[in-house]
Amino acid sequence: MLDGLFRIVETLFEVRIRPDEAPVWHPSVRFFRIERPAASGDAPAELIGQFYLDPHARPGKRPGAWMDGTRDRWARPGAGLQTPVAHPVCNFAPPLDGRPALLTHDDVQTLFHEFGHGLHHLLTRVDDLGVSGISGVEWDAVELPSQFMENLCWEWEVLQRLSGHVDSGEPLPRALFDRMLAAKNFHSGLQMLRRWSSR
Ligand SMILES: [Zn+2]
Repeated sequence: MLDGLFRIVETLFEVRIRPDEAPVWHPSVRFFRIERPAASGDAPAELIGQFYLDPHARPGKRPGAWMDGTRDRWARPGAGLQTPVAHPVCNFAPPLDGRPALLTHDDVQTLFHEFGHGLHHLLTRVDDLGVSGISGVEWDAVELPSQFMENLCWEWEVLQRLSGHVDSGEPLPRALFDRMLAAKNFHSGLQMLRRWSSR
């Protein structure tokens, strides 16, 4: 799933995501770097940002899923560019008895959602500390990148490549995807009305 997500991000935003090294607070936490590949082959890639991914539930961990900035992008006066760092956190079931961790479609949406917030923070081009990344964003815009990424989970071309049966590796059958989509859209008008009436 992560590989699939990273390939999508690399394709859409013309970046590269690679494992990176940093001290972490739990062995299941992973650290990555996002780079912009150099235009010519020999030049080094440009570091855009880095992130910690803390995907699994464990005793004592705060439940839910969120993303926060660990460090903001900032052109420090006289000290060069500080690149941003983010930490998307989820609570997915961990791998068990040598079997891989399995994600529900809900989990996948959560992963894409939090990663969308992460991209908002990491791909910023703003140099001023108070308004770079997720800082100082208007409330009605703050969920835009997360929704954008979440919507990809409902695209057949995307899901077809991301999904796999735990034993056979077979992708999600198209007929099942169509039923999931129909269930998602069922009564969606009513949900919209409920939202309006609850204001
Ligand atoms: Zn969100």
